[in-house]
Amino acid sequence: MRNKKYDNILETIGRTPIVCLKNISKGTKASIWAKLEYLNPGGSIKDRIAKYMIEKAEKEGKIKPGDTIIENSSGNTAMGLAIICRHKGYKLKIVIRDTTSKEKIKMLEILGVEVIKVDASLPPEHPESYNNYAQTLCKNDPKLFYIDQHNNLDNNEAHYFTTGPEIWEQMDGKIDYFVSGVGTGGTLIGAGKFLKEKNPNIKLIGVDPIGSVFYDWFKYKKLIHPSRYKIEGIGDEFLIKTAQLEYLDDMIQVEDKKAFGWARKLAFEEGILSGGSTGANIFAAVHLAREIDKEVNIVTVVCDSGYKYFSTLYNDDWLEKIT
Ligand code: PMP
Repeated sequence: MRNKKYDNILETIGRTPIVCLKNISKGTKASIWAKLEYLNPGGSIKDRIAKYMIEKAEKEGKIKPGDTIIENSSGNTAMGLAIICRHKGYKLKIVIRDTTSKEKIKMLEILGVEVIKVDASLPPEHPESYNNYAQTLCKNDPKLFYIDQHNNLDNNEAHYFTTGPEIWEQMDGKIDYFVSGVGTGGTLIGAGKFLKEKNPNIKLIGVDPIGSVFYDWFKYKKLIHPSRYKIEGIGDEFLIKTAQLEYLDDMIQVEDKKAFGWARKLAFEEGILSGGSTGANIFAAVHLAREIDKEVNIVTVVCDSGYKYFSTLYNDDWLEKIT
């Protein structure tokens, strides 16, 4: 599908391959499959939602070229938005945690984004926290257009219309489990809704870092006090609108070190260089495969590229310091 010429880079978003992780699946009866979203032009799955949300806002007359867009992002949505804004003539401001890998921040700066770093240790209710600052800035400047991927259901819709149908078609409908980390939940719930409509027996399994609020809310309807973790892109300190956890069949928790270890293993055993959230997905997929102990197809996602994490999870000194 990709061996043709395109008018511009935006047309190359999506239609990513799925591969069987034969080495990772070894020792289990399951086949674990990975959709390679790091092959999108911005290096992550979030290119899909960036394109979809901007084009939808354009169609609805909410924005026009020359306007300024603002978003809070762990870096990947920001990168997708940056590519789209360069092509469509929007200015872009990104609120990002000061703990985000320097590679991600550098990439944004190269594309001309105004990067606003916020102190990651601020409590979630603080007006200048990662979750609130974009909104705080919008109050002072009503001309800013806030994408709000965490509460904008167009995010989930992007995956319902693209990622879900692609997985269904690529797997010829032979899917038993779809496993993915929940950041906004767009990937798992958007694509998952499509898959369940095709076959209600497909199980949707969320992955959540220890310290995030999603797992305990899903399991026990208990809102825990969040604590910090190092995996970028998944989990949250709040419940958010896009994370419609009621669609999930189960959730698996993962700790930082496990996720990073599995990301490194994926690189070493399969030649797929990914980030920590992908490591979390692989950990969960293998855990599930061992637990089920049956010949099933488990589909998961390589969310983003390991090139974005040389200073963190692929840096031995950094990794050693993690408790
Ligand atoms: N992994 C990474 C690295 C991400 O940036 C994100 C998005 N925050 C996710 C996973 C989770 O994707 P989603 O927001 O669709 O749940």
